[in-house]
Amino acid sequence: MMNLRACKTCHSITDQATKCPRCGGEVSREWQGYLVVIDPEKSEIARKMGIHAAGRYALRVK
Ligand SMILES: [Zn+2]
Repeated sequence: MMNLRACKTCHSITDQATKCPRCGGEVSREWQGYLVVIDPEKSEIARKMGIHAAGRYALRVK
């Protein structure tokens, strides 16, 4: 988990060091909160965050 980064744009968690594989946005090592979305339509947090795809996300990204 130490080497994982989170996208500043879509909050997706990735092991890519340069940019987000999902949206091409900038990634950051400074993120907090680990969220696994399995079914975005049924997840209230996912809806609030505007997440429309299953995956791993960070709650906060600096
Ligand atoms: Zn992204």
